[in-house]
Amino acid sequence: YGDFNQKIDYVFKIVLIGDSAVGKSQLLARFARNEFSLDSKATIGVEFQTKTLVIDHKTVKAQIWDTAGQERYRAVTSAYYRGAVGAMLVYDMTKRQSFDHMARWLEELRGHADKNIVIMLIGNKCDLGSLRAVPTEDAQEFAERENLCFMETSALESTNVESAFMTVLTEIYRIIS
Ligand code: GDP
Ligand code: MG
Repeated sequence: YGDFNQKIDYVFKIVLIGDSAVGKSQLLARFARNEFSLDSKATIGVEFQTKTLVIDHKTVKAQIWDTAGQERYRAVTSAYYRGAVGAMLVYDMTKRQSFDHMARWLEELRGHADKNIVIMLIGNKCDLGSLRAVPTEDAQEFAERENLCFMETSALESTNVESAFMTVLTEIYRIIS
């Protein structure tokens, strides 16, 4: 029971990237602890959180890294990307600019990460549907062109959060096993 004496078969490092305030920290809080906060402070200090789960009878520890307020272009260091086997590329679907920056973040990621990294494009805050600024089709088209998985999520309402992380983890597992 619990993590005690648990045999870990795999550790998968996943990095969260994207502009400030798109919801990266809340997606992580929702996935790792099933928590959400509406007035989350800019992330400081915390490097990563882990969640242990079972895929295909193997114990997998997901080690998910969150940027500590370094979301400016080129401010995320190569140490952040080192060893990552998965990435969540997050934009806020109510903020067009955060989507327009995805190409840049992707370029950064591809410049630093392993070429086999599994990447999920995430349009977060889908609970704010009436404020949508990024059509699903635009994101889908970008994802297809760049060979990324794609989902729209809400950390607030828990929509697709588990599913997005599990899709990435399962795909990583499929590749390495
Ligand atoms: P980060 O800078 O990318 O880590 O963004 P945060 O996780 O700190 O979230 C920024 C703001 O957006 C906070 O006020 C969150 O409460 C809010 N937020 C995050 N996810 C959602 C969501 O799915 N829906 C809504 N409505 N707000 C969200
Ligand atoms: Mg944050």
